[in-house]
Amino acid sequence: MSIDEFLRPINHSETLLINERSDSLEQTRRVFRFGFGQSPFPVPASVTAVLAEHAGEKAYMPVQGWRQLREAAAAFHRSADGVDWQPERVLVGPGSKLLIYAVMAAFTEAEVLLVSPSWVSYEPQARLAGHSVHRLQTSAETEWRLTAEQLDAFCAQREQPQRPLILVLNYPGNPSGTTYSEAQLKALAEVMRRHQVLVISDEIYGMLHHQGQHRSLARYYPEGTLVTGGLSKWCGAGGWRLGVMHVPEALAGNLMPRLLGVASETWSCVASPVQHAAAVAYHFGPDVQAYVEGERRVLSHIGNRAAERLNNAGVATAAPEGGFYLFPDFAGWRELLAERGIHTSDQLCERLLEEAGVALLPGTAFGMPADELVARLSYVNFDGAVALNAPLEDLEAIAAP
Ligand code: PLP
Repeated sequence: MSIDEFLRPINHSETLLINERSDSLEQTRRVFRFGFGQSPFPVPASVTAVLAEHAGEKAYMPVQGWRQLREAAAAFHRSADGVDWQPERVLVGPGSKLLIYAVMAAFTEAEVLLVSPSWVSYEPQARLAGHSVHRLQTSAETEWRLTAEQLDAFCAQREQPQRPLILVLNYPGNPSGTTYSEAQLKALAEVMRRHQVLVISDEIYGMLHHQGQHRSLARYYPEGTLVTGGLSKWCGAGGWRLGVMHVPEALAGNLMPRLLGVASETWSCVASPVQHAAAVAYHFGPDVQAYVEGERRVLSHIGNRAAERLNNAGVATAAPEGGFYLFPDFAGWRELLAERGIHTSDQLCERLLEEAGVALLPGTAFGMPADELVARLSYVNFDGAVALNAPLEDLEAIAAP
């Protein structure tokens, strides 16, 4: 018997693969690693100290998460976002990625609505959970934002409105680097409310809004918004695997037991030392506050300089508002690239890596049509510890040695 025909068409995540390819190419040539999106900043010392203190703890923790961590995360987000996070409705998981998947897995049947471009993992997760996927294509004109009109038009023509519609919205965006204004969120919220859309609001880069002005959709659409976040980006601790999710009061009664069911039957709990360390991060003492301000200063400066340079070279790139990505559009080079046999973003990234050692991720990885010459550039290929302590005028040299 061959098992092949029974295997799911799921592949290794592209963002992780590019790093492996860069590693092997680096044996023979210099590689500019703009492909992988990992925070360059060290975890704050006060947070790692607590991790070390608890290193010996090996007992299972509560499935929902350590109570003190849920309290700290809820208090932090109540104050930072003006949203009614409560510890009873917070779920802690091994990264926000698994928490997003838990929501998908909690439904037997749903339609998942994604924005193109958006993060690579949403679609495979939705498919793994057995849901159908729809995409709404955005454009450079709106700096890759979903508009209320687009969402309204999609909802109005749905064929099976009796099934839940789960929209995943991520801002500041990976790969766009842009976010939504208060007015844009309010307009979206009005449409979501009218069509009863369930939203997974992926706010993993919220703390890295470059001006510290992140706004959560949950403020304007509290009844239908699940918010995900965690330590991976703002606290530089991606490998620790710590995510948090807020479930709205209006849904928690039925949804929370299912989410706990998924959590208890899959990951069980997050490691105790990591949860203790996370509680300290969310207590957000003066040292952690200064660290986050430092991150924003560095990312804003380097991101803006990088976008400026690309725009000057004829590659249209929206100025970054948060996170650490740019989504340059090489359409202005289309003819020049065609002369070299490059017609798709995959070909563009392949050739950039092979010929110039520049690692970018093609737009196709984010759900963009193949012939759109867009790619994600992650501008965090530098030593974050050095950058945090450097004057602004030195940052350019640190980011592009
Ligand atoms: N959402 C987005 C948009 C991301 O870019 C990432 C990380 O790459 C994640 C979620 C996953 O983060 P975590 O490490 O919390 O699972």
